[in-house]
Amino acid sequence: MREPLRILAKNIGALALPDFCPRCFWLKLKARNRLPFQIFPGIFSSIDAYTKRVVHTWIDRNGGAPVWLKGLGEVTGYIDPPHHSRFYIELTEYGGVLLTGAPDGILTLTDGSIAIIDYKTAKYTGTQDRLMPMYEIQLNGYLLIAEHLGIGNVTKLALVYAEPVTDEETAAQPEIHSDEGFVMPFSISVHPVPMEPAKLQPLFQKAREIYDLPEAPDGRSGCEDCKRLDALMLLARKL
Ligand code: SF4
Repeated sequence: MREPLRILAKNIGALALPDFCPRCFWLKLKARNRLPFQIFPGIFSSIDAYTKRVVHTWIDRNGGAPVWLKGLGEVTGYIDPPHHSRFYIELTEYGGVLLTGAPDGILTLTDGSIAIIDYKTAKYTGTQDRLMPMYEIQLNGYLLIAEHLGIGNVTKLALVYAEPVTDEETAAQPEIHSDEGFVMPFSISVHPVPMEPAKLQPLFQKAREIYDLPEAPDGRSGCEDCKRLDALMLLARKL
């Protein structure tokens, strides 16, 4: 068997986006996600990690989830999400694919099943979120992995949006101040995600086909960035 294509559930999800670019996908896979000019502000990851700690410490103290997570049903506890090095499934079909990732949260429910959630520090726009097709595939990928590893019977998938509340009235509240600084409240929205793991199968096939191409395929029509890159490279050669 060929070397398996190791891919994050989120990156498989990119194949489901309407503006998917096979060239970008190929380049990211070949460069193992180490592309220049890919700076993502760390603050969002910090807030996602903080949201997870807030939920876990609340469950530790109260034996159930905070009211703002009631959209998930009756939560009884949580399972610490495994590191991505232990959270994967190897598929021998499709020429070999190793699907991996790290879910933000795994919560246990009253019937003994589990819910897998992903935290998003962002304004909740429902299905208007341009990246929703990618998130849906990402969570369904986690479902496949969790069930394969025997972590539990997955009965719920959800995105938990934490939106900063930044209006003037909130900013004027004396309670937000302390001697150390100020606090910013977050408004929570739970977005249920359909459980449709079968949707991943054609994406595994497509990912493997693109990865196996000997050269980068054409980019997305209408995207000007590759043309700008070509122009920059031409300029650099002349200097
Ligand atoms: S066409 Fe656009 S999206 Fe595709 S590789 Fe080039 S810059 Fe990336």
